[in-house]
Amino acid sequence: MVLTTNLNYNKIMTNRINYDVIICGGGTSGCACAYSCAKFGLKTLLIEKNNFLGGLMTGGLVVPVMKSSSNNLNCDYYNKLVKTAKKFNAQITYKDNNDGWFNPEILKIVIEDILTENEIKKNLDILLETQIFSVNKNNSLIKDIVLNSNLLSLPIVSTYYVDATGSGEFSILAGCSILNDKSEHQQNSLRFILDNVNFSEFSDFLINLDDDENITNIYRNEINSDVNFTTASTWDENTFWKLDKFLKSGVENGLLLPNDRSYFQIFSVAGTNSKVAFNCPRISNYANNPYMASNELIEAKKAIWRIYNFVKKTFPGFENSQISNIATQTGIREQNRIKTKYHYTKNDLISGKKFENNVLEANYGIDVHTNDKKSSIIQVSQSYQLPIETLMSYDYDNLFIIGKPIGADFYAHSALRVQKSCMSMGEGVAKYIAKIKK
Ligand SMILES: Cc1cc2nc3c(=O)[nH]c(=O)nc-3n(C[C@H](O)[C@H](O)[C@H](O)COP(=O)(O)OP(=O)(O)OC[C@H]3O[C@@H](n4cnc5c(N)ncnc54)[C@H](O)[C@@H]3O)c2cc1C
Repeated sequence: MVLTTNLNYNKIMTNRINYDVIICGGGTSGCACAYSCAKFGLKTLLIEKNNFLGGLMTGGLVVPVMKSSSNNLNCDYYNKLVKTAKKFNAQITYKDNNDGWFNPEILKIVIEDILTENEIKKNLDILLETQIFSVNKNNSLIKDIVLNSNLLSLPIVSTYYVDATGSGEFSILAGCSILNDKSEHQQNSLRFILDNVNFSEFSDFLINLDDDENITNIYRNEINSDVNFTTASTWDENTFWKLDKFLKSGVENGLLLPNDRSYFQIFSVAGTNSKVAFNCPRISNYANNPYMASNELIEAKKAIWRIYNFVKKTFPGFENSQISNIATQTGIREQNRIKTKYHYTKNDLISGKKFENNVLEANYGIDVHTNDKKSSIIQVSQSYQLPIETLMSYDYDNLFIIGKPIGADFYAHSALRVQKSCMSMGEGVAKYIAKIKK
């Protein structure tokens, strides 16, 4: 258990603690919310079960931030992240002007650096390695919470609560209604990183292989000679992937299993010139069944070992590579979505419907990772908005839901789940609470 300095330890042992806002989950959306709440002068507690912050952005090794919109509504935290990560040599701006290419491991340090700046720290307490044991409620209000720690066994009280757990765990503990429209599922992934890749050799190979900039592209920075790149291949039958012939022969040669071809995507890791992040292998049928889920995770490690040996033997530049990271947080794209005051739909997204209490502007399209061999659906959208009411619990008047568990339908969710939008949700809720608390 780690306590940051604001908490008076003796006081915790004897009294209740009162906050303006308690945020459960110190990941992508939770950190943005905590930063903004503290900046607006709200006394805030951020609770995170890992021993680091960042969620999927760090523990999940999910890079880069998908380019979403140039409109900067509720992007103060994101901009701060970009600026601070740059100082730590953990950020680059890609050639399409996407400034969200980060080094996920260093981001753990960057995020803590931001949240412990004096202006923020004075209003923000952080509890790492802490989970909520129970949520106590009174009619339509969350009253207090109890943490899973002997030392902090007294209830902690707040005026507002924010579920930023990614899974909706807080809302489920509180007994909230869950959306029950599960006819389709996103496939999940266990991401990993290889180090000691020769970027120059591999990018030369890519340039000669594939000139389709939508799939493969290389960015050579002429000022500092850094090289960055991304490429992909899936087993979808209605798209031609230049890399697929290599993956197919990997299966024929027994290096890969057929399912390893389902989705293969890589990104260079910002500021390293040697690390490559893999957005695979996929985890199929990862369900809310702990036996199946555990088995899938074991199989995923075997797949990582196969993919590693395959790229080492197949692609120029990977000969001396080594596995440096396997995600400590499973890459779950969509899990529980919680019922909120406004149910946001695919039509709202596609039509670009305008809302009075808008929290974000984005244009990232519908992005569903399916397991059949049709193309994954990626529909490019016009700019769209999201109302604060989609982040307000249907069941409790003082509970907000941000990030993945929001009250949107499956297809709208598949667009809204990208990191920049999750951060805007966190900031939008902070702004809203600061306004109503005045
Ligand atoms: C495989 C994969 C690839 C993706 N690729 C991209 C991409 O390339 N670009 C992009 O922009 N987006 C991408 N996304 C989407 C994006 O990363 C996520 O949707 C987004 O990061 C989710 O943010 P969040 O705040 O909801 O959850 P998270 O970032 O997961 O944060 C949730 C936090 O809550 C904590 N927590 C959970 N339960 C508890 C509890 N009970 N008590 C305390 N803490 C708790 C977790 O430890 C975690 O830190 C991808 C997602 C996946 C899964």
